[in-house]
Amino acid sequence: MFENLSDRLSGVLDKLTRQGALSEEDVSTALREVRVALLEADVSLPVARDFIKRVQEKATGQAVTKSVTPGQQVIKIVHDELVATLAGDDENAGELRVDSPPAPILMVGLQGSGKTTTTAKLALRLTDRGKKRVLMASLDTSRPAAMEQLAVLGTQIGVDTLPIVPGQSPVQIAKRAKQQASLGGYDIYMLDTAGRLSIDDALMAEVEAVRDEAKPHETILVVDGLTGQDAVNTAENFDQRIGITGVVLTRMDGDGRGGAALSMRAVTGKPIKFVGLGEKMDALEEFHPQRIAGRILG
Ligand code: GDP
Repeated sequence: MFENLSDRLSGVLDKLTRQGALSEEDVSTALREVRVALLEADVSLPVARDFIKRVQEKATGQAVTKSVTPGQQVIKIVHDELVATLAGDDENAGELRVDSPPAPILMVGLQGSGKTTTTAKLALRLTDRGKKRVLMASLDTSRPAAMEQLAVLGTQIGVDTLPIVPGQSPVQIAKRAKQQASLGGYDIYMLDTAGRLSIDDALMAEVEAVRDEAKPHETILVVDGLTGQDAVNTAENFDQRIGITGVVLTRMDGDGRGGAALSMRAVTGKPIKFVGLGEKMDALEEFHPQRIAGRILG
């Protein structure tokens, strides 16, 4: 198991003499430990480096409060900075822009990331809590099983899916989804695009064509939160080619430390809207920066 940061820091920092303010040396000693903790939590190296630099600037020279140890004080500064970075300037975590019906939501991501599951989880949330009428459509023409999977989930949660018509291209399906959503009086239609095991040009070209057709109000990238640095590369790629508006991190119920959240936020600047916490349809939660910060620090 990981050693938690406060144990780590109390070991090194509480030996230091208190001189009324955090000296540069105190802070550097502490931040070496913070850096190890971040890397162990799967935060990418450049992001960890930048983060440490910001904390160093904030912490050095700060008066040491009587009520806490220097170690606790550094932890508080690190924690606050983590929360600020994770939250960014997004005041609407957990909200999707779904005005002017029928609002298209494009779901993108690699195969196995949890995209189809997350599409259904979001649809359930939008119908249940937002009282919206939602139509889901699978655009995964290369994997009939994936189309079937969405239909099965739809039945399970009581959300309509676009009937499967074999032989149509993803763009044709997107058009049909829009028509059906307009005619049927739906508030939202969700397009579950195909994924691949890794990013390739054909995948991106296909998603681009669908994006151009649907002009989505939200483009949500679904990423496996356990994949660390790969998650960040995936996010960068999708953001550059497709332009994402938000991220859902899945498998946050696993024992990973969630460092991908920090890297992702820092690298793309795009908000993490929700986290997936299991396979069940209600295992989706709004993103809480505080919780992830606590988890990263251990
Ligand atoms: P897709 O290929 O990206 O559409 O992935 P799927 O939606 O088919 O999900 C792949 C597997 O991951 C399925 O077995 C899902 O039940 C599972 N899964 C999806 N999200 C989560 C999550 O947040 N936590 C856990 N533990 N499993 C998940």
